[in-house]
Amino acid sequence: MRKAAEVRETFLRFFEERGHVRVPSMSLVPQDPTLLFTNSGMVQFKDVFLGVGTRPYKRAVDVQKCMRVAGKHNDLEDVGRDGYHHTFFEMLGNWSFGDYYKREAIAWAWELLTQVWGLPPDRLWATCFEDEHGEIPRDDEAAEIWLAQPGFDPNHLLFFGRKENFWEMADVGPCGPDSEIHIDRGPEFCDRRSEPGHVCRVNGGCARFLELWNLVFIQYNRTGPTTLEPLPAKHVDTGMGFERLVAVLQGAPDNYSTDLFTPLMDRVQELCGHSDAERAREVVAYRVIADHGRAAAFLVADGVLPSNEGRGYVLRMIVRRAARFGRKLGLVRPFLAEVADVVVRSMGEVYPELTQHRKFIRQALTAEEERFSRTLESGMLRLEELVASAKAAGRTTLPGEEVFRLYDTYGFPREMTQDAAREAGLEVDWEGFEREMERQRRRARAKSAFASVQVPKSLQALIDRGVRTEFTGYRTVVGTGRVLLLLKGGVGVEEASAGDEKIEVVLDRTPFYAEAGGQVGDTGWLVSRLGRFEVVDTQRPLGDVIVHQGFVREGILRVGDRLRAQVDGARRREVMRHHTATHLLHKALREVLGEHARQAGSLVAPDRLRFDFVHLQPLSPEQVAAVEERVNEKILEAIPVHVEFMPFEEALRRGAMALFEEKYGEVVRVVSIGDYSRELCGGTHLRNTSEVGLFRIVQETGVGAGVRRVEAVAGWAAYRWTRAQTEVLLRVASQLRTAPEDVPVRVDRLLDQLRSLERQVRSLQEGVASADVERALEQAQEVAGVRVVTARFDGLEQEALRALGDRLRERLRSGAVVLGSAQDGRVTLVAMVTRDLCDRLHASELIQPVAELVGGRGGGRPELAQAGGKDPHRLDEALRRVPEFVRMLLEGRDRAGFGR
Ligand SMILES: [Zn+2]
Ligand SMILES: [Zn+2]
Repeated sequence: MRKAAEVRETFLRFFEERGHVRVPSMSLVPQDPTLLFTNSGMVQFKDVFLGVGTRPYKRAVDVQKCMRVAGKHNDLEDVGRDGYHHTFFEMLGNWSFGDYYKREAIAWAWELLTQVWGLPPDRLWATCFEDEHGEIPRDDEAAEIWLAQPGFDPNHLLFFGRKENFWEMADVGPCGPDSEIHIDRGPEFCDRRSEPGHVCRVNGGCARFLELWNLVFIQYNRTGPTTLEPLPAKHVDTGMGFERLVAVLQGAPDNYSTDLFTPLMDRVQELCGHSDAERAREVVAYRVIADHGRAAAFLVADGVLPSNEGRGYVLRMIVRRAARFGRKLGLVRPFLAEVADVVVRSMGEVYPELTQHRKFIRQALTAEEERFSRTLESGMLRLEELVASAKAAGRTTLPGEEVFRLYDTYGFPREMTQDAAREAGLEVDWEGFEREMERQRRRARAKSAFASVQVPKSLQALIDRGVRTEFTGYRTVVGTGRVLLLLKGGVGVEEASAGDEKIEVVLDRTPFYAEAGGQVGDTGWLVSRLGRFEVVDTQRPLGDVIVHQGFVREGILRVGDRLRAQVDGARRREVMRHHTATHLLHKALREVLGEHARQAGSLVAPDRLRFDFVHLQPLSPEQVAAVEERVNEKILEAIPVHVEFMPFEEALRRGAMALFEEKYGEVVRVVSIGDYSRELCGGTHLRNTSEVGLFRIVQETGVGAGVRRVEAVAGWAAYRWTRAQTEVLLRVASQLRTAPEDVPVRVDRLLDQLRSLERQVRSLQEGVASADVERALEQAQEVAGVRVVTARFDGLEQEALRALGDRLRERLRSGAVVLGSAQDGRVTLVAMVTRDLCDRLHASELIQPVAELVGGRGGGRPELAQAGGKDPHRLDEALRRVPEFVRMLLEGRDRAGFGR
């Protein structure tokens, strides 16, 4: 059997031998913001076809990673239910950029399929373009080339119209006819035999005829609905679905029965402990897990993490759907890491990013499965209730409003609701669901519109006129400028003077940096002949207009004034230290934790920096130390910092970290720290890392699923922070009367001493107390046949006092107990009466006169009462009079008893 890896390599080598450059697959996450995922081989060459990009080669061959899930929302559900749908797949392609054309493309395709791979020529069919509207010429050129191929059956040449055989990128732009190669796998492969009137044929919709390879000939530029212009440079773009090709070459009944998927499914079988028969019965679940496990591993390797939006949502959906099918097989604990391991083993050589991120992939998948498990527990219960009540009411549909609530409150994936409903034989009211979703969106919009800041009209007018502020502050902190606009309370004014509220000033040029990319805005002074303006913040609310915010401190400021702009240089310098340190930190984190530790947000201020990055678990103290050390190492190496402007593509080629959604073809600013770090960045930086001075990590925390935060200080802030830490240590050392380096030992010894003292105090207290208990018992008095015990234990809390009382009551068996304790000017009282006496005497009554004497009140039950008081001086007296109170209460109650 020809292994899949061999097939892939044969394809690449075949075209390499014919002058093609082997180009690596681009990421599944495309630069193109209109695309969710890279979904075909063409994406990475789109700019060449559009005529806006070039490549240093004219022939290329590649295997491209692709993802298709979004768009028609049934796609994901179809995966696994048949043998040929996938989320992740590979696309083989050979490309000509204005070089060879139809003759070579067709001849090579034929040669590779029939000579190299030995597919029988009489099983192969070719299709060419013939316009059903008669507007575009028939592709006779391609047809003639087909007829000339050795062993090609002339009866196997067919013509199809625009839908099948004409390729267009968009309503306008490059387009052209294409030619497809189909294979007839034989009548036994037909999956629509039972349909009346079905005839097996090319493009006939059954599994007997498979499209193998699509050769696109880009020869026109569409400028309107009916106007096509010939292109000066013609291109070839081909695509062959790898999984399908492998199935054909391995004689497999479907894609999942090839060695691309069987090792994954074998692993699942091992995990489940299934027999072959059981595996065959659960084939859908096996396929879903194999496909989704593979897709998830590739997505994480390309930096996608599970979330509730965009790509992250797709990944979440995929992981959760796989986990759900895993549960059907009895896999309740996380298992996708095991499947991903097989993916890494079998494909890591072709896609090194898998091997590089292996550990991270495992962690990310397991973490998401665990989160899902928690969601499921609550959501599944609710869903079962919904299904049960729908069935009980004889309904066939789950209400959209309820399903939306399930999605909104429990984060329960809607695809899973659909699956579960289908299994219960129910429909879901998706229209109602969408209505709820829209209502929710409107609520969110209303909220955010309320909070958003209105751009002042005059500022908007300025921007509309195309006015921009030139930023001159990369190299200097002083400059001159002219006032273009003054805003007071958001309204344009001609002048502002000292004592006015906050004013906003727009200049034609300024060295003040406006807050952006995490770096805070500059502060400083604007000085004219007539006044002085203090800048407290600088912002860029819209477009390229820089707004200085602050107060006129002296004189007046008028529109049209020329003035000197002076940034607070010392503060800016500290900001720059923190910014350059941030770039070093970013790189050091990736070195210590792995390439996945990419920036997720940052703040660069004069006195601190904050850096959020992707990582799943807290950093160990060793990792924190390693990162900090690495940054300081680079500071001490005194590496020069360079700033260059270059096209985005070049920056990427040179390994720059692109953080935001830069566009293809844009010129970007690249900040390089020697060869150590390279980032796209618009901020202000030092000229040399040594100027950072010192870098210290203050703390490391988590800020959300998969995102960690480092807070750190650089330059003077780092010095001051270190200094403060030292001062704390010195103070502690002096309090302990020891040297700073001996503090830990000294503290350990003190803690030991403290613990042993506590033990002694406890045992002494217990000894003293039990002696006191004995003494109190000896001094018990008898009042009208009731034994009365009183005692004072100073320094005891209520609870300890009660425990003593319990012991006394036990020893006493029958009688009344009143205990008191004085502590910090407060009195605590506890009174107890044994149960046998409760019909004659209540503890809650007995405690009242005692509490009154010490200035307090109390209450409780007949057996136990408690009280507090404010007068410790009268505690002895109060306790002494207890027998008297007992007598009073007994007599009173007895009399009342007689009276009855
Ligand atoms: Zn058929
Ligand atoms: Zn930066």
